[in-house]
Amino acid sequence: MIDLRSDTVTQPDEYMRQAMMTASIGDDVYGEDPTTNELEEFASNLLNKKAGLYLPSGTQSNLAALLSHCQRGDEYIVGQDAHTYRFEGGGAAVLGSIQPQPINFESNGTLAIDRIESVIKPLDSHFARSKLVCLENTQAGKVLDLEYIERVRELCNRYNLSLHLDGARFFNACVDLTLQPAVLAEPFDSISICLSKGLGAPVGSILLGNSDLIAEARRWRKVLGGGMRQAGFMAAGGLYALKHNISRLSEDHENASLVHEKLIERFGKNSAACATNMIHLNLDQEIYSTLQSYLLSHEIRVSTQRWVFHLNVSQPQVQKLVEAIHEFKT
Ligand SMILES: *Cc1c(COP(=O)(O)O)cnc(C)c1O
Repeated sequence: MIDLRSDTVTQPDEYMRQAMMTASIGDDVYGEDPTTNELEEFASNLLNKKAGLYLPSGTQSNLAALLSHCQRGDEYIVGQDAHTYRFEGGGAAVLGSIQPQPINFESNGTLAIDRIESVIKPLDSHFARSKLVCLENTQAGKVLDLEYIERVRELCNRYNLSLHLDGARFFNACVDLTLQPAVLAEPFDSISICLSKGLGAPVGSILLGNSDLIAEARRWRKVLGGGMRQAGFMAAGGLYALKHNISRLSEDHENASLVHEKLIERFGKNSAACATNMIHLNLDQEIYSTLQSYLLSHEIRVSTQRWVFHLNVSQPQVQKLVEAIHEFKT
């Protein structure tokens, strides 16, 4: 079965399983799990941040970051369709009394600088206190470049705001831009990266930032119920992923791009857009439903009109998909 529903469906390969099976473990709530400690250190070195924290999910990692940056009555500025606003159950408001200030994403996945600036509140008791800007890279597959990020950083400096990155697919952006992770991470006060998406680990995210922020987030992780004991079994998968599965993300981008080309050939120029490891189709819903069942009969599984490529979609499988698209009759 080819599964394009998401890059979260990946399975650990034999080597990752071996690394997990043989991991040294201890009680991570006591700070005594050697593999989790190694993972946190490895990731913080890779992104050149002072400290790292392993958490069970990206949602919890973003939430711990928001709770660490913001107090009750503070506000974060965020994209209307951002994961940290739209897809995390309103956690910042529910658990932190933190007010979101959503603004629309531009078509390239950025938040327009002047639009961010226009919603920053003056220091006045009428308003929530603007505290944090939250970006996403990649945003629905779209890559934010360093020059843009540096402009947002400059704005944050001017208004004394912190800058958080939801980097669930941060390494897809690094690979696309051919930039070292430390370079693309530099402007941010905190970054959350997912190990369980295209990197192929079964569970977990890492939050990175300076030592004070991560100490605060460590406290919040416990409060949120995310303190795990012998977490090293899982952390070993993450460590393996960071060591072996970053540069191969370019294969996923190439696969997406190839399938995108075939979709355009078959359905026309405006039928689909491609960004890093994702294709966003734009087909009439009726045709799409027919295509979806047709693909399923060829053991190709898709759900929405977003198709996501990952390390469990091989080159021969991509060929099979391309042929199926070519032969599809409406
Ligand atoms: C997947 C994802 C997350 C985190 O999701 P979890 O399922 O909680 O690990 C955060 N942000 C973005 C943009 C994502 O795609």
